[in-house]
Amino acid sequence: MSAVDDLLEANDRYAAGFAKGDLSAPPRRKLAILTCMDARIDPARALGLEEGDAHVIRNAGGRASDDAIRSLIISEELLGTNAVLVVHHTDCGMLTFSNEQLAGRLRDRFGADPGDVDFLPFSNLDQSVRDDVATIRANPFIPDGVEVRGFVYDVATGRVREVV
Ligand SMILES: [Zn+2]
Repeated sequence: MSAVDDLLEANDRYAAGFAKGDLSAPPRRKLAILTCMDARIDPARALGLEEGDAHVIRNAGGRASDDAIRSLIISEELLGTNAVLVVHHTDCGMLTFSNEQLAGRLRDRFGADPGDVDFLPFSNLDQSVRDDVATIRANPFIPDGVEVRGFVYDVATGRVREVV
């Protein structure tokens, strides 16, 4: 059985017991969470969220990239959220390479130059959280009244620590 078959089987079980079909789209707890795609982080379980509670926006590093900002603006402006949690984590892969290294690797492997793409790696975990919180706060389309807080999730303990 393939990995996808396993997922479909799990979904059969989920749907069989599903009783949340009447939720509305605006998150009940008015929260948006920006976090890393790292497979070790389960934001719902780690933070006690249920379906319908929060927007969870994920990318490599949980960075406040243009596309993450796009989602946050839609979240705040159209779907009523009023708080953003930026959650980076220990042992993040984004701590392990530079733009130059990844670009060089891609050039070697594919024979094409990725150009000056910023993959948004970082070398200081707490600073990356502060930077992304500042980027979100500074965006003119994120209202001043939106609470933006930054955390580091420890993949070894499951605990979050507030940074800013
Ligand atoms: Zn990560």
